[in-house]
Amino acid sequence: MRCDVLTIFPDIIKAYLDESILRRAQEKGLLDVKVYNLRDFTSDRHRKVDDYPFGGGAGMVLKPEPLFNAVEALKGDGEERRVVLLSPQGRVFTQAIAKEFSQSGQRFIFICGRYEGIDERVRLALVDDEISIGDYIITGGELAALVVIDAATRLIPGALGDERSAEEESFTSQLLEYPHYTRPREFRGMKVPDVLLSGNHREIWLWRRREALRRTLIKRPDLLERMELSELDRRILSELREELL
Ligand code: SAM
Repeated sequence: MRCDVLTIFPDIIKAYLDESILRRAQEKGLLDVKVYNLRDFTSDRHRKVDDYPFGGGAGMVLKPEPLFNAVEALKGDGEERRVVLLSPQGRVFTQAIAKEFSQSGQRFIFICGRYEGIDERVRLALVDDEISIGDYIITGGELAALVVIDAATRLIPGALGDERSAEEESFTSQLLEYPHYTRPREFRGMKVPDVLLSGNHREIWLWRRREALRRTLIKRPDLLERMELSELDRRILSELREELL
């Protein structure tokens, strides 16, 4: 995945990209992120990126000129780019959208808003897609851009140490993931379920499926309504419903 990030706080993005899976994905050439400081696209002495809103009201607004300059400069190399604005008003980010981003083969420009947001003309003329990370307001688009880049990178083949991790994770199959245990076998009187120590792969698979269905039924029953269930899933779910009565 290739992306350019436009922000007035490039260090926030760089610090996160420099660790763990995202760092390794870049080293392996699977992820290419260039971070640009919006102030580098200003033309005044004070490198001003914000101004007061017309009509009054609280807060400042990101000016159109630096954003237009930046997007036009980046597109100047002739490569197609999809301009994505991080915004609480966008379509709500999901694992399905993460997959769409990781597989699209497009280059992205992520615009990170700040203050009250960006001048509307940027959205009207430059933005191809608006993504929200949820129905709440955070201080700037940087965390949201990192959420999108992180979730999409995990789905690039080769980005995780073990490919099965991505296949089994919550939401990939619409189910929440089953519980995990590691050593010790007993901790403060709480034991690891025997089946996980049995070495019986079929039994372990069945237990995990059952626990994934149990968690989803209890915590996110809405996911089950949208999911295609196998005959086995249906049977397990009816047993779980009986159990939970
Ligand atoms: N006044 C704006 C509104 O009510 O829609 C919120 C501005 S917010 C304080 C500043 C920036 O943070 C936004 O421009 C956007 O880039 C980012 N942001 C805030 N919440 C977000 C969310 N839920 N998803 C994605 N980006 C968000």
